[in-house]
Amino acid sequence: MSDEKVFISNPYHSARLKPVRKGKKPPKLLAVVNQSGCTGCEVCIAGCPVDSIELVAGPDPKNPSFQQTVEIDLERCIGCQNCSQDCPWETITMYNSEDAFVAWGRETLFSNLYLPEEDLVEIKKRYEVKEA
Ligand code: SF4
Ligand code: SF4
Repeated sequence: MSDEKVFISNPYHSARLKPVRKGKKPPKLLAVVNQSGCTGCEVCIAGCPVDSIELVAGPDPKNPSFQQTVEIDLERCIGCQNCSQDCPWETITMYNSEDAFVAWGRETLFSNLYLPEEDLVEIKKRYEVKEA
């Protein structure tokens, strides 16, 4: 059995209140940020037509913009390629949508949008979330 973690969408992130992507099929390409090359400069955020790039705070809660990075919401990305062209550090890659989630797991190392399944179980327990 593979020991790779399964990541699932975080239903408690405020991004889940933003408009969802139209259409049943995902686009042909999806953008994935390789966070080891991301400087958190935010250039990509401004050019995203569907607001699907989210900031991930750095490790110090008193100074969250220090060592911040970004992640791309695969549920909302429409594959326009603006971000991969705009990134000054060339750290965003367009993947075929069927490969994007695997690439995301390798390259998007810090995420608020997707969580390992066990973390979501823990969050629900901690905040006493009751299923609808
Ligand atoms: S490819 Fe386009 S829609 Fe997707 S994250 Fe980049 S700018 Fe946004
Ligand atoms: S433009 Fe590139 S380096 Fe800047 S925040 Fe976006 S992904 Fe990171």
